[in-house]
Amino acid sequence: MSLIENIIRPEVRALAAYHVPDSTGFVKLDAMENPYTLPEALRAELGRRLADVALNRYPVPSYSGLKQRIRARLGVPAGFDVVLGNGSDELISMVSVACAKPGAKVLAPVPGFVMYEMSARFAGMEFIGVDLRPDFSLDLEAMLAVIAAHRPAVTYLAYPNNPTGNLFDEGAMLKILEAVGDTGIVIVDEAYQPFAQASFMPRLPDFPNLVVMRTVSKLGLAGIRLGYMSASPGLLNEFEKVRPPYNINVLTQAAAEFVLDHADVLDAQAASLRAERERVVQALAGFDGVKTYPSAANFLLLRITAPGLDAATVHARLMQAGVLIKNVGKMHASLQNCLRVTVSTAEENTIFLNALQTALAS
Ligand SMILES: *Cc1c(COP(=O)(O)O)cnc(C)c1O
Repeated sequence: MSLIENIIRPEVRALAAYHVPDSTGFVKLDAMENPYTLPEALRAELGRRLADVALNRYPVPSYSGLKQRIRARLGVPAGFDVVLGNGSDELISMVSVACAKPGAKVLAPVPGFVMYEMSARFAGMEFIGVDLRPDFSLDLEAMLAVIAAHRPAVTYLAYPNNPTGNLFDEGAMLKILEAVGDTGIVIVDEAYQPFAQASFMPRLPDFPNLVVMRTVSKLGLAGIRLGYMSASPGLLNEFEKVRPPYNINVLTQAAAEFVLDHADVLDAQAASLRAERERVVQALAGFDGVKTYPSAANFLLLRITAPGLDAATVHARLMQAGVLIKNVGKMHASLQNCLRVTVSTAEENTIFLNALQTALAS
């Protein structure tokens, strides 16, 4: 046996590293980033704030100023606190670490966000994926059957779902919360909440097993890496124990506090993106050879239906035209010939639409 085989767990060796393509020079529509920056005056003011940050000091691990702004500005119910993560990716991994009892299982609908499965495996937990229906709605019966048979410790529901973009039926989600009861937690991942304008946050007082997870990434701050989750005080207290004490660095803390004091700017950007989403959907409805799925997120899932064309070919042609989107066609059987594109500025969306029309015609 080699050194690697001797020491690295087989489930880690079996994984492929998360691949992020080089996007230099492309119109970048592959990662659900907000294309807008802050207005010039706010950027200058932020620069002054960051210059004053004490880089020689550790962060104060209570993060009380930042948490207070998150609670006040982002709709956390009265009496509920938040746990902060270096992106929600870190929150997912903290939950996995806290819940990885021997034999503990993780459930999520598939296709879904890949980190749920990766993180479960990293923590040594079994992952159970339940297929969505062909229209990407929740298969409630199948979910309930798995819950009854396996009693998963953690169930993830992304609301809206990535990469499909749809909001699951609220009634079905409530049934899942009830079926799980006190044998597990249900994490409602609201990474795209600013574009969906629907949330389970107000339901926290009704469900002791509910965790609502969010991130500022898709809102326009992907670079600072900040996520937060709220749940009953008892649960949060346990998750807080596995949080690395200084996981939010002082620059992220200062930048997030500053931007949350100007949350109206981000709200206006999200509103523009929602309007652009509708414009792109309308435009795509007039294209032959592509089906667009309903989206409550800042991206659209498309299926290439043109005879003789497939998603890989269209993806390659778009790249040749300088437009980078994501080919999700190999992620799951139900996504055959599907592509995912981020909704961006009017200008970039038009570049995409023109490039797609050419790619479908040639
Ligand atoms: C992008 C995304 C995240 C990750 O957010 P970060 O805070 O950037 O780590 C989490 N969940 C879903 C469903 C996402 O699409």
